[in-house]
Amino acid sequence: MDSNSYASAGADLDLVGVQKRFPGFTAVEELDLHIPAGSFFALLGPSGCGKTTTLRMVAGLEDPTAGRILIGGEDVTAHKPHQRPVNTVFQSYALFPHMTILENVAFGLRRRRVSSPLERAHEALRLVELDHVADRKPAQLSGGQQQRVALARAVVNRPALLLLDEPLGALDLKLRRQMQQELKQIQQEVGLTFLHVTHDQEEAMTMADTVAVMNKGRIEQMGAPEELYELPRTVFVANFLGKSNLFAVDVTGGSDQALQASLAGTTISLLRSRTERESGSITVGVRPEKLRLHRQPPTDTAGQNVLGPGRITDVSFIGVSTEYTVDVPGIGAVEVFSQNVEAGPAAGLGDEVWLSWHVEHTFGLADDRL
Ligand code: ATP
Repeated sequence: MDSNSYASAGADLDLVGVQKRFPGFTAVEELDLHIPAGSFFALLGPSGCGKTTTLRMVAGLEDPTAGRILIGGEDVTAHKPHQRPVNTVFQSYALFPHMTILENVAFGLRRRRVSSPLERAHEALRLVELDHVADRKPAQLSGGQQQRVALARAVVNRPALLLLDEPLGALDLKLRRQMQQELKQIQQEVGLTFLHVTHDQEEAMTMADTVAVMNKGRIEQMGAPEELYELPRTVFVANFLGKSNLFAVDVTGGSDQALQASLAGTTISLLRSRTERESGSITVGVRPEKLRLHRQPPTDTAGQNVLGPGRITDVSFIGVSTEYTVDVPGIGAVEVFSQNVEAGPAAGLGDEVWLSWHVEHTFGLADDRL
């Protein structure tokens, strides 16, 4: 057998009106979620937002207060954890220290009296590229290798759905980034449905094809990583996924495609297709790396929004880019990330500057105030 025998379609996961109340506290509000078979889905949010509780309900470790959970179209809400076609990889990988790596992976298969457990365990170890350490004990492996063994152990009995609860949380940053790539590759190879819970936005964005941002027991926004980053709908999502400059503006007019708005006396434009709200006082944003700094008032301003003059109050060189803070009178601090090191003499602390960005990089939020 080769690793391709793992290829499977996985299964759809559906949560229908799922809710979890603890005494005096609702951890998960009514949640409706459809995760198609074979996708890598990340539930992303800060500590306490309810993501682990959601995952535990899918695993059967926690009973929902209301709602139904379906895996591959089958209602498993009343099923015990071991009756569900699900496996979970936790942050603490808890391998049996006295057993070899091979025995660790084969353990569950043996208990369930699956035929040729060792052969299947070798196959799973080949998938995570660790078959050459099959005879070692866990203590003889690095943290990253142990986590890969935990993954092999989780996929060896071919669940339709794999749940990952901060599986890389115990690894150092470099190993974490490497494992992110590997996990993603493995997911593509095996074709299982992955539901990954994390508070690390970079991790969710690099690995998942769909990310749901969770806040206070609710999903605030769901979509492809680029879409969430480029078009956040709420202040929470805009701030949770990277940095944003957010401004309160008043819509003053518009054409078919664009709106005009007043930002502390300066008129800026935004596209109707990129805003949740089209009238009144709204919150708009632009990512710091979309802004350009100018030492003179920019002249070619077609399709651009321009602010200024302001003054640079902070400069941080961080290798790949330089981060500036610009204080614009009436508006306040604006963050600018500049990667364009060849764009003439760099601006320095105290310099007078103007800021510009393409109109299409402005996004308008659903929240009415900052
Ligand atoms: P973290 O990343 O810190 O694990 P999370 O987003 O996974 O956070 P949950 O573990 O799902 O959050 O917890 C959501 C909320 O529910 C938290 O406020 C938590 O204190 C609460 N909670 C979780 N389990 C219980 C319980 N058994 N009894 C009461 N409250 C609970």
